[in-house]
Amino acid sequence: MPDTLTPVLTDMWDVDRAWTLPAYEAKGGYQSLDKAFAMKQDDVIAAVKDSGLRGRGGAGFPTGMKWSFIPQDNPRPKYLVVNADESEPGTCKDIPLMMGNPHVLVEGVIVSSYAIRANKAFIYIRGEVLHVIRRVQAAVAEAYAAGHLGTNIHGSGYDLDVVVHAGAGAYICGEETALLEGLEGRRGQPRLRPPFPAVAGLYASPTVINNVESIASVPSIITNGAKWFASMGTEKSKGFGIFSLSGHVQKPGQYEAPLGITLRELLDLAGGIREGHDLKFWTPGGSSTPLLTAEHLDVPLDFEGVGAAGSMLGTRALQIFDETVCVVRAVLRWTEFYKHESCGKCTPCREGTWWLVQTLARLEKGQGTEADLDLLLDQCDNILGRSFCALGDGATSPISSSIQYFRDEYLAHLTHGGCPFDPARSTVFG
Ligand code: NAD
Ligand code: SF4
Repeated sequence: MPDTLTPVLTDMWDVDRAWTLPAYEAKGGYQSLDKAFAMKQDDVIAAVKDSGLRGRGGAGFPTGMKWSFIPQDNPRPKYLVVNADESEPGTCKDIPLMMGNPHVLVEGVIVSSYAIRANKAFIYIRGEVLHVIRRVQAAVAEAYAAGHLGTNIHGSGYDLDVVVHAGAGAYICGEETALLEGLEGRRGQPRLRPPFPAVAGLYASPTVINNVESIASVPSIITNGAKWFASMGTEKSKGFGIFSLSGHVQKPGQYEAPLGITLRELLDLAGGIREGHDLKFWTPGGSSTPLLTAEHLDVPLDFEGVGAAGSMLGTRALQIFDETVCVVRAVLRWTEFYKHESCGKCTPCREGTWWLVQTLARLEKGQGTEADLDLLLDQCDNILGRSFCALGDGATSPISSSIQYFRDEYLAHLTHGGCPFDPARSTVFG
């Protein structure tokens, strides 16, 4: 295996029946519990802070800092909620992680809940992935039977119950406050922040919400130490992460590597772009992150590097497109997704995504005019920064970035009277 890979979360995926408790314990699983229980809760939080772990759900908020916002003088119960509602187009890291090694998530839930003094935790899983829900439920049941969950865990005096909750299939429920609404039995729509969930979250109680990969990283930090984790990655983006390569690459899949690795290095590991073709554009972190091009092959894939290149690291969902793909058509497909998934709560997103699809579809068919490009950018301006949550903002990213890099291709649709690409050549959006 090349040196650039750092398999920690993925190291068990090839083990026979890796998802079972005996397989996990044979690899040293659940050993971080006793170490954590021997520490004061605040010391566990300090270790996660010192490790530099930042939220792996996309936004990169420092995990230890988020935990430290939980007001301990508040008499209400504290909750941990794992956001396993992975739905961002191209994002496919949490689902294989929960399938390949659900126990590392359960172990992370126990340590994290202990640290924030929560006695109840929820794992909120996207409703469509029944096989994942069953696998995580089975892991939780095994953990209860082995005494890793329940009352007086490992004789520590600490109690924890875990509920695995199935979502109902709305993309918006990946937004943390919409997720809480769903968990409380209401329609999934975002709440106004502040107050952030750390102050008033589930049932108006202090709640930490973290992504699957963030929580699954915690046991290795406790077991190996904050310095070990911080020794990987870059100055401000520490540790490792799962990079999901999909699309026109020879070997699509999950590549766990230090933050700061480049797409050029990842493509070397993935065998490169499919033979006889060239990279045209890619998303660093799902379709809500502005597109990048072949110019950006050497951008460090960390929060700062991708930000400096005009995009966002997001979920590290690297969707790779070669020159056979019509960028206008790709962007139209993503925009249709956002229109469909808009929860309808605020006007800029509810109405704006509808208008974006109308204008883009006209351009894609070659029936628009050059003025439609300015109209599209104007529509983006009226959504970006004016929407209630990040869904509206994210919907504008592929549009504005594709016009920035591929304006000529938009214009070619107009001069050609339709898509200049032979649809038969497009293997992605045929
Ligand atoms: P955000 O930056 O607003 O918040 C990130 C986290 O930090 C949240 O948990 C929030 O509660 C917390 N936080 C921020 N400021 C705080 C404060 N002052 N006090 C206490 N807590 C605070 O980002 P977001 O809107 O939650 O998420 C946007 C990200 O979601 C995007 O970057 C995108 O990449 C990602 N995303 C992921 C998926 C997926 O499937 N994994 C889908 C869509 C979007
Ligand atoms: Fe709903 Fe879109 Fe407004 Fe978010 S931005 S609250 S998804 S309508």
